[in-house]
Amino acid sequence: MKFQAIKGVRDILPPESALWNRVEQTAREVFGTFGFAEIRLPIFEQSELFARSVGQETDIVSKEMYSFQDRDESSISLRPEATASVVRAYIEHGMQTLPGNVKLYYVGPMFRRERPQKGRYRQFYQIGAEVLGPSDAPGIDAEVIEMLLAFFERLKLKGAVLSINSIGDKNCRPAYVELLRAELQKVREQLGADSQRRIDTNPLRVLDSKLEHEQVIIEKLPRIADHLCAECRVHYDEVKRHLALRGIAYQENWRLVRGLDYYMRTTFEITAPGLGSQNAVCGGGRYDGLVELLGGQATTKGIGFAIGTDRLMLSLQESPAGEVGGGLDVYLAWFGAAAQPVAIKLARRLRDAGFVVELPAVEMKFGKSLGLADRLKARHAVILGNDELAAGVVAVKRLPGKNPASEDAGYKGVQGLSFGDARSNVVIPTRSAFQDRRGTLSGFALWSRGPEGFLAALGMTMVRSLAN
Ligand code: ATP
Ligand code: MG
Repeated sequence: MKFQAIKGVRDILPPESALWNRVEQTAREVFGTFGFAEIRLPIFEQSELFARSVGQETDIVSKEMYSFQDRDESSISLRPEATASVVRAYIEHGMQTLPGNVKLYYVGPMFRRERPQKGRYRQFYQIGAEVLGPSDAPGIDAEVIEMLLAFFERLKLKGAVLSINSIGDKNCRPAYVELLRAELQKVREQLGADSQRRIDTNPLRVLDSKLEHEQVIIEKLPRIADHLCAECRVHYDEVKRHLALRGIAYQENWRLVRGLDYYMRTTFEITAPGLGSQNAVCGGGRYDGLVELLGGQATTKGIGFAIGTDRLMLSLQESPAGEVGGGLDVYLAWFGAAAQPVAIKLARRLRDAGFVVELPAVEMKFGKSLGLADRLKARHAVILGNDELAAGVVAVKRLPGKNPASEDAGYKGVQGLSFGDARSNVVIPTRSAFQDRRGTLSGFALWSRGPEGFLAALGMTMVRSLAN
């Protein structure tokens, strides 16, 4: 029997996983600078939590949840999103007593039984953040959006477009929804089956429709912007003012409603190129009533977003920003039983200094060993055979490596360095010492200057040249 991953789920393999790590690490760094801390949440929760918060009538809960009966017959669901869990945890751990607003982020998989296609999976990943606390100041909304865009900028994501809207609150939205429903009833026969159903269950979602023939009908529907109450209008205007203070460009989209029931007032979405019709990389908004709905204090407000990591990754891979560094720094080719113990120690010193080292576990023939170094795309082969051992040197051969174009590929010289230093107390600068604040390896400038730079990085000096 041959096993395969289940439909709609997939493995993320190297080297792509390195890009995933970089993206998640960047989120941690950027969100950290805005005062957010990570919350690690369970993958499954009581089904009722999602039914209550996301909404029984949403597609997510009614059609897409992976739910099962536990052995004690309680109903459990794999989480389709994480805001409900964050709010559950906030209430459960009494976080409302913490000073100021509580700022949390999470990273991890979500599960929805949707039709798999490009950018849409059944196990997909989100990076999300939430602000919970007593204040709903519009400056918070703008700062959350600023953080999101700072993250995308740091990743060098190109062509991201921010859309915003306000969908009112419990004072003004119900009347608008009824008006919308009444207008939709008049055109019911012209709508598709999904939209017809939504007239009854969730009329706002009709605005979300992508069906070609419904577009002209939707364009004529009443717009929420004309029906906001005074408080929501002021809040929305202030959010826009605070975005302007931050120099953030946005589009207003009156049809931007979120798929989840708990949203109110500010909603936003970010689209990115290269994704076809699945072009939303991030959705977010305000959800001031959710804490109360789940049994917490009525005065607690909330706002947050969720980035679809899979789609972000697809969009990044479309651009040169998606190139990952990493790879093998040194292939340590040793030959002869006497060289092995020296090679083992040298490998450890290089690894302790942060270099990525491959050390063959068994002795190989010269040509085969260096052939493997090439195929592994190592940047340097460090060669240690009997001659070198006797002379107290190793030979360093520069290889084309992983990104030959970006390095000095013309250099083919083979030169020697003393490994005697490796046994003495020479200080090897760590690889992280070369990392600038953004985690970029500026130390690679050293590498690309050839063996001299490599030696300097190791705190060693050249003893002789082995010529070309
Ligand atoms: P969409 O309209 O694309 O279905 P959504 O409104 O269901 O999105 P949210 O629940 O707001 O999405 O989730 C936030 C983000 O998570 C989306 O913008 C998207 O990038 C991502 N996302 C949602 N569902 C999936 C999925 N099945 N596969 C991959 N990414 C997803
Ligand atoms: Mg969806």
